[in-house]
Amino acid sequence: MSVNQDRTGRRYELMSRDELTAFQNDALCQSVRQAAKSSYYAQRFRSLGLDAADIKSIEDVRKLPLTSKDDLRLSYPAGMLTVDPEQVVRMHTSSGTTGKPTAIFHTQADIDCWAELMARCLSITGATNRDVFQNMTGYGLFTGGLGLHYGAERLGMWVIPAGAGNTARQIMLIRDFGVTCIHATPSYAMHVAERMLIDGDDPKSLKIQRAFLGAEPYTEEMRLKLQDLYGFKAFNSYGLSEMNGPGVAFECEHRSGMHIWEDAFLVEIIDPETLEPVADGQTGEMVLTTLRRTAMPIVRYRTRDLTHFVQGECQCGRAHRRIARMVGRSDDMLIVRGVNVFPSQIEEVIMKHTWVGGNYVIHLTRAASLDQMTVKAEIAKSAFDGSVETIRSLVNELSRQLREQVGFSVTVEVLEPGSLPASEGKAKRVIDERG
Ligand code: AMP
Ligand code: ZN
Repeated sequence: MSVNQDRTGRRYELMSRDELTAFQNDALCQSVRQAAKSSYYAQRFRSLGLDAADIKSIEDVRKLPLTSKDDLRLSYPAGMLTVDPEQVVRMHTSSGTTGKPTAIFHTQADIDCWAELMARCLSITGATNRDVFQNMTGYGLFTGGLGLHYGAERLGMWVIPAGAGNTARQIMLIRDFGVTCIHATPSYAMHVAERMLIDGDDPKSLKIQRAFLGAEPYTEEMRLKLQDLYGFKAFNSYGLSEMNGPGVAFECEHRSGMHIWEDAFLVEIIDPETLEPVADGQTGEMVLTTLRRTAMPIVRYRTRDLTHFVQGECQCGRAHRRIARMVGRSDDMLIVRGVNVFPSQIEEVIMKHTWVGGNYVIHLTRAASLDQMTVKAEIAKSAFDGSVETIRSLVNELSRQLREQVGFSVTVEVLEPGSLPASEGKAKRVIDERG
């Protein structure tokens, strides 16, 4: 086994289903016992009359309570900590914009495990220590920067910790150091490409081979558009700060759903209303339990992310199951004129058009008690011929297709390239001014 293989936790990566189940049975029992050491879970288990010893295998997982973001806030700052403070080597917080964030703590073993999972994610895409990797997401409390950084270093990649923003410098570094792999939010990758096109440059001239794109929802149409612009292969990367950050699930070379690392996370998919498990292959809310974290194990965390298990075996032969691209978050669902709409349904329609660029917003207002949806989309620099007729037909076509998609009429505004606020991290796609 090469050094790189050891570094990605091959002994877990290559487990069969039976081996994974046996491992999970033990790991869940240990994790629950560890969680019970925190003041938060000790009290919660007590109030339910639950003893950690009642959990004997993964079959018992439903005896455990669900944990929500609000529970994490209740335990703020350190109610879920299970180890002596001197064992903590790092903390991160979630990217919440209002109120108290949720804080997540790590021991050195936790950081090592996270780096191993992250290195494993990168390696299953075919990336190796021969790659030059530019990390284009924020470093700091946000987990995307340090998460990918430690994983890429562990794999032995040449890491350029560029961080988010400063687009001109990003482009320069990619070109000057022959960057072969990047990590970015899809919206920022799109912004960089459009900046280049506006400046008369071509993103393909950068010769990036692989892009690891995640941290925010995006559609298959957005992936295709980005691949088309850059000529790279884009791999979907999923994670959330409560479960370390990135490194939870990642696409392998076959890119047919994301392998979720079942040695580290016990996965359930439930109906968000009834809280019962959905039938295998049905879409529901993903609930995750940490299996290998010491400082702060989390039991049955409600991610709010909606997905399903991809059926069948992956061509790569790995037994870790695959989850499909997120449909959205249950709390991101918009109700417009009584109709449930996910922002991803809008993106799916508009990104199919070569005339539309990568940046758009969904603007919701209310006039005379009626919800109005306006989709503002930038035109693609490369495709625009400058004619009013082009704009008119684009607006008409988009309005018609959006109406077919959502079932009510949507106003479409087509804007000049670069006129909407660009995002360096997670894009804000919805502006809801309905009050
Ligand atoms: P944070 O904990 O602040 O990093 O945010 C995590 C959230 O970002 C997840 O719960 C998802 O809603 C979203 N997210 C991360 N990666 C992806 C992805 N690849 N596709 C869709 N949503 C994602
Ligand atoms: Zn695979």
